[in-house]
Amino acid sequence: MIKVETAKKWLDLFIEQLLENKVYLSELDTAIGDGDHGNNMARGATALKEKLAEKEYDNLTDLLKDTGMVMVSKVGGASGPLYGSAFIEMAKAAKNDEQVALADLLQAGLDGIQKRGKAAQGEKTMVDEWIPVIEDVQNNQLTTEKVDEYVEKTKPIKATKGRASYLGERSIGHIDPGAASSGLLFKTMLKAGV
Ligand code: ADP
Ligand code: MG
Ligand code: MG
Repeated sequence: MIKVETAKKWLDLFIEQLLENKVYLSELDTAIGDGDHGNNMARGATALKEKLAEKEYDNLTDLLKDTGMVMVSKVGGASGPLYGSAFIEMAKAAKNDEQVALADLLQAGLDGIQKRGKAAQGEKTMVDEWIPVIEDVQNNQLTTEKVDEYVEKTKPIKATKGRASYLGERSIGHIDPGAASSGLLFKTMLKAGV
């Protein structure tokens, strides 16, 4: 069972990390994209902070749904609708189900990302972070080190989805920015004890 208070703590930590890593994430995106991923996510983080301060949440669905709506409307770029779909699908998965398992919740999020973005594993996107993380959560084996390892593993991949795919071979050797921001999502999840 995932308590709404714990999920709120997770989101608060995620917001904090996105703001702290704004420059870093945009630097990653400068190498293989248009240099705005950190700014996009930080804009979303600031808006989310304001939104979550407006009321006390007493259920997971409302919390995750509001988060998704803010992501869609404020992050922009490719990542906004993708993170938005992830949180909105997680909200649906949490509906009427206090017992929802974390792996099932995250799987619903990943399904949302893939439904919208059509990326498979190995295309150098955030999907390459979500897939192995969910597998580890299922097996109760996720650690901060593993989250970082999966981010690093996007380096040798040649991008075939998103803006980085325009670079072809030149996308090789760089971390995918969206995988890195998803890494922050999962490290804060561990830290919050979700
Ligand atoms: P934009 O590329 O529009 O500037 P961002 O820079 O905010 O948007 O986000 C880029 C990130 O979005 C990439 O690093 C990648 O992880 C993710 N991304 C892009 N396209 C897809 C897709 N089709 N499926 C999953 N993730 C994607
Ligand atoms: Mg970008
Ligand atoms: Mg952009």
